[in-house]
Amino acid sequence: MSKKPNEMTITEAARALRLPACRQARLTVRELWDACANTAKEKNPELNAYLEIFDADEIAIISAQERIDAGEESLLCGIPLAVKDNILIEGKIASAASKMLENYRATYDATVIAKLKAAGALFIGRTNMDEFAMGSSTEHSAFGMTKNPHDTSRVPGGSSGGSAAAVAGDTVIAALGSDTGGSIRQPAALTGLVGLKPTYGAVSRSGLIAMGSSLDQIGPLTKTVEDARIVYETIKGSDPMDSTTIPEDLYPACEVHQKLRIGIPRHLLNESVTAEVQSAFDETLTKLESAGHTLVDIELPTSSHALAAYYVIMPAEASTNLARLDGMRYGHAARGETLLADYLQSRTEGFGEETRRRILLGTFVLSSGYIDAYYRKADASRAVLRREYAQAFAQVDVIAFPTTLAPAFKFGEKSDPISMYLEDIFTVTANLTGMPAISVPMGAVERPSTSLGTGETKQLPIGFHITAPHQAENVLFAAAAEVEKVHSS
Ligand code: GLN
Repeated sequence: MSKKPNEMTITEAARALRLPACRQARLTVRELWDACANTAKEKNPELNAYLEIFDADEIAIISAQERIDAGEESLLCGIPLAVKDNILIEGKIASAASKMLENYRATYDATVIAKLKAAGALFIGRTNMDEFAMGSSTEHSAFGMTKNPHDTSRVPGGSSGGSAAAVAGDTVIAALGSDTGGSIRQPAALTGLVGLKPTYGAVSRSGLIAMGSSLDQIGPLTKTVEDARIVYETIKGSDPMDSTTIPEDLYPACEVHQKLRIGIPRHLLNESVTAEVQSAFDETLTKLESAGHTLVDIELPTSSHALAAYYVIMPAEASTNLARLDGMRYGHAARGETLLADYLQSRTEGFGEETRRRILLGTFVLSSGYIDAYYRKADASRAVLRREYAQAFAQVDVIAFPTTLAPAFKFGEKSDPISMYLEDIFTVTANLTGMPAISVPMGAVERPSTSLGTGETKQLPIGFHITAPHQAENVLFAAAAEVEKVHSS
């Protein structure tokens, strides 16, 4: 049976949109939009992937069709995309899934949105997320949780869980997320998608609601590695609106070897990795080896401290970024008896529990007397991590480990914050070092489902995580395509 338009990848949809008019399989931009928008409306009451599904933008649809008919080359022309609710689209609400910004309407386009609009892409809606991108399950949204389309009794991961569920639920062709500590890669892994966190500075953060400014990057969640490459190529580039963006050639170019040397830090894969994830990972490695790639054991001793460093740096940066949301300048504004009461009330009512926890943690680690012990130490560890990775990259092209310890968990299972933070154990290092990283599907694990009768099981996807040197996205895509290949054969 042929695929429905909403089930297609970017490449497939782009091809179908370009078939000669006489062919039956030819797709129009309108048909593609309708297939996605109708499926999104049908599934959203169950999935809660979208906070808002936009009305069709007739002018954009017609102009995309005209461009395709006139020979437009951008494969994103006419393709519907979903956008995480912390990325600004002019005229639309961008709430970061917080009560604080519930009614905040963006006055300009994020640079990535402007680039995608220029390529002719269409936007189907804004997706649910953990409030201000703090979390790994989308349970911290102020607007209800999102369900994993593979098993609706489980989380889709987070914080870009809405974007992941939207794509995995076949309600849209691809989506944008943001990744500060794993928020693109972990939900991609838990929903069977490809998720890319680009090199820090490769993609503009202008128009992304900031969480951890030295860690945040926007990136794609897609059905294939090729689709991730297409979105990345369109959104990347230095930007005068973001002074942390980098020129294309800031780092030395990395050659793509046909036969890859894959570094495995086996010492990190201890008993905390579930047996099924470990065996799926080992199986993938064996297949890669049979395909002619070389496996190399490497040591990354400081990586075991990365999670602790991340949970000092990220709250520190988030606490300063969120200080502007004070009931005076933006967002929810409550009025008390005094100015201080205005601040307290606005922030207490506007922010959810996890956000408040991180603001407290962040202001603590930055406070005089503690800044040296916590923030400066954590910050110093970034240079050590970068050095260790650089040393490893002298011997290998890429570094691989599983994206998560286990498949998607059940709602409420990680109500203890520390257990939730452990979800990010493998993903945070790429944000601390600024290196690009990707999660690619590596099969599924069978687990009982509580949403069905007893004895029924569901296949839960898991991910293979690859890190490459700064600006070596070309190497990353090549390695990811190899993993995709061994899993499809
Ligand atoms: N789960 C991590 C956190 O809660 C990462 C979040 C993110 O990447 N935005 O901080």
